[in-house]
Amino acid sequence: MTSFHLNILKFSNIIKINSTSSSRLLQLRNMSLLKNKSGPIKVADKVAHFKQDVWSIFTPLAAQLNAVNLGQGFMNFPPPDFVRKAAIDAINTDDCNQYAHPKGRLRLLKALAKSYSPLFNRTLDPETEVVVTAGANEALYATFAGFLDDGDEVILMEPFFDQYIANITMNGGVPVYVPLRPHGDTSKIMSSSDWKLDINELRSKITPRTKIIVLNTPHNPVGKVFSKEELLEIGQLVQEFNLLLISDEVYDRLYFKPDVHERIANLPGLWEHTITIGSGGKTFGTTGWRVGWSIGPKDLIKTVLSAQTRIVFCVNSPLQEAIAISLEEAEAHNYYENHITSYEQRREKMCKALSDAGLPHTIPQGAYYVLANIKGIKIPEDYEYPEALNSRPRDFKVCYWLAKEIGVVAIPPSEFYCEENRHLGEDYARFAFCKTDETLEAAAKALLKLKKYINE
Ligand code: PMP
Repeated sequence: MTSFHLNILKFSNIIKINSTSSSRLLQLRNMSLLKNKSGPIKVADKVAHFKQDVWSIFTPLAAQLNAVNLGQGFMNFPPPDFVRKAAIDAINTDDCNQYAHPKGRLRLLKALAKSYSPLFNRTLDPETEVVVTAGANEALYATFAGFLDDGDEVILMEPFFDQYIANITMNGGVPVYVPLRPHGDTSKIMSSSDWKLDINELRSKITPRTKIIVLNTPHNPVGKVFSKEELLEIGQLVQEFNLLLISDEVYDRLYFKPDVHERIANLPGLWEHTITIGSGGKTFGTTGWRVGWSIGPKDLIKTVLSAQTRIVFCVNSPLQEAIAISLEEAEAHNYYENHITSYEQRREKMCKALSDAGLPHTIPQGAYYVLANIKGIKIPEDYEYPEALNSRPRDFKVCYWLAKEIGVVAIPPSEFYCEENRHLGEDYARFAFCKTDETLEAAAKALLKLKKYINE
């Protein structure tokens, strides 16, 4: 080493020592500031603004008041015997109780590919075109995490499944809204097909930052099953602006004649743009198992898998096996047909109960919710609500009153609209009918008490 090099080395060491000691000083100063700080640990901005969610208001209220709970969309009856047995067998199988591959257990990937290939009119590759997720919720989260950069916009149709919003904003995205609007006389019984998307309004929401459109069919809470014509219009925009389409089809096995569930990914040119999301919980009545999936072209699925590996790593293994067995055995048990028939009967019971009580409503084409129009319910002016409801729209108040005075819990759907459009939801209440006959009959009886409060 020359003396020139030695000098350079000495000089850079002096700089290093000086900068190390000054950054150490800064660190010590910050530490003492830290020590002086008191009070609660600061919550991250991305979470701090979350309001109390609608489920944690109305689910405990149902229990507290011993009211008939038609609020949250979970079944109050057990899954079919062959599904339960599959879970017990899976737990008893040695290799099922350890980590699964982040993609999902091979048996489930294969069962999903086999079950869904005919529905997507293509042979799905279980290794690259399917990924198992922790419920549809995590499929959504992983998709947003995988595709959104800060400021990217995601278009949602209102009313929306409320989880979308936090999933988008926690991943830096910006939700943009376009409402489905009821066409016709809302004071009469309507069909969910009367709730329509204005395609020009959707077009007007697209900007250079738009990255994703979220579609939900069959729809929660409207019950709308989008027609092929409606899907073609949405699909055209997706292709024109080269967007990603998330098609949330968790209720794909639950639609009522004469409607059929069309898959937007099957329309010309749309497979490449679409991630379709499904739910083992909705399909087999096992919402607590938290097994869902995403299906799509391998380039899109690869990204969902990358994100999900860093979110949950893998999904609970024995219940994946149980869903695999359930899918394998479903046809032999005529499960899907029986499932639809039993829900048709529940839908009829629910709608009749609302009609008998004098509540106009929207008859759903799919899923298991009915929106009732509550505008005509007259609640005494001096009725007292809990403080927390004072700032909430009218549907929150009516739903509270319904729970307390009528004994039936429903969900206020204004929660499923953005601030600006909340008024579009405040004349409705959502009743979930994924409940036993006894529960639906008890609700029907209780709802009759409403008659004297309804304006003719
Ligand atoms: N999407 C929609 C439209 C839903 O209604 C729900 C559940 N209520 C989900 C996704 C989440 O499904 P999972 O329970 O499989 O996470």
